[in-house]
Amino acid sequence: MRGTRVLVLNSGSSSVKYQLLDMADHSRPAAGIVERIGERTSYLRHTPAGGTPREREEAVDGHGAALEAVAAELARDGLGLDSPELAAIGHRVVHGGRRFTAPTLVDDEVLAEIERLVPVAPLHNPANLAGIRTALGLAPGLPQVAVFDTAFHTTMPEYAARYAIDPAVADAHRVRRYGFHGTSHAYVSRRTAELLGREPSEVNVIVLHLGNGASASAVAGGRCVDTSMGLTPLEGLVMGTRSGDIDPAVVFHLARVAGMSVDEIDTLLNKRSGLLGLCGDNDMREVLRRMDSGAGDAGGAGDAESAASAKLAFDVYVHRLRKYIGAYFAVLGRVDAVAFTAGVGENAAPVRRAAVAGLEGLGPVVDPELNEARGGGPRLISPASARVAVAVVPTDEELEIATQTYALVTGATARPG
Ligand code: AMP
Repeated sequence: MRGTRVLVLNSGSSSVKYQLLDMADHSRPAAGIVERIGERTSYLRHTPAGGTPREREEAVDGHGAALEAVAAELARDGLGLDSPELAAIGHRVVHGGRRFTAPTLVDDEVLAEIERLVPVAPLHNPANLAGIRTALGLAPGLPQVAVFDTAFHTTMPEYAARYAIDPAVADAHRVRRYGFHGTSHAYVSRRTAELLGREPSEVNVIVLHLGNGASASAVAGGRCVDTSMGLTPLEGLVMGTRSGDIDPAVVFHLARVAGMSVDEIDTLLNKRSGLLGLCGDNDMREVLRRMDSGAGDAGGAGDAESAASAKLAFDVYVHRLRKYIGAYFAVLGRVDAVAFTAGVGENAAPVRRAAVAGLEGLGPVVDPELNEARGGGPRLISPASARVAVAVVPTDEELEIATQTYALVTGATARPG
């Protein structure tokens, strides 16, 4: 009999995050992170359930060494990769292109296809691949499953996935809208249906995943029909450091008039834009604090300026969000719920209030007290009378990856999405 535990690995460009989940009771026997891989002082933290975190700084020179350190930490707690309780490893893979529409058991051919997708995900897929290859070396007998950030969005109709450019050029270079954060959109849309006491197949939901990266999706009866990110995670909403939607001619203009290189513009739009670019802070907590501190008369001119730029960043952020909410009402026709998730969506009541303010005509309404009240689990923040529910639904990408991985290796039918 195979075990009931799944190790979820999220290998980023300079970090590896991991969680061990037990699917029998959804407990988490261990979790941790290795950060700053490739630097002289990488940071490791391993937290066994109910135990004290073990932290240290040391040089970890690559994903191979990082995973070896993770395996050693797990083994110290009797949770090693050879433990009979471990059923599989589930890997988060950012880009699955058009081919991967569901979680997939990793073999040589799957690895080759993930490799072929590197040109459309140059920052993410190489790190994901390094994580999978090392894990295969450390635990050759264990099933390893790739769970793709793009998979949930592969149900988008062709007219939502196509850019209006020459198809020959687009197809030759795999240029189309793929969408990301799919694991989160899948999980949150399903949990929102549960919160409403209905089947996912009966419910239309607008999911707003607002973290440091941010994306919106329109989910009709459990299937994604549109999402705001595109070829890369740059399109769509205003994010912590990314611009989101922008006239593509801005790129030509900056190249021709400002003499910037393609790489400089890439860095500008991905790393120095969004909230950070507009006001100098990419953390919504800081943006809100600066707005508040400018509200009184105590501060000087510097405070007022800082509050004004924070307020403008907030307004640009919220305006874009409202445009997507409105657009997805049009895409879906009928909406049952608007669900907020991720760091900003779960915690920033002012963002939720401003995003939905004045949309009563469309149906969603936020109750001010419910919106301010804090709570751990999924909850409604709309009054009972609202025609469209508004919900806060904490995302749990690790649980979703573990659930999909476990369903695949045990042959159980994966829950939809
Ligand atoms: P995530 O990518 O989902 O981990 O979200 C991270 C972001 O959530 C941070 O950069 C913050 O901007 C935001 N965030 C986290 N906690 C709060 C909070 N209490 N209020 C406002 N924003 C928050």
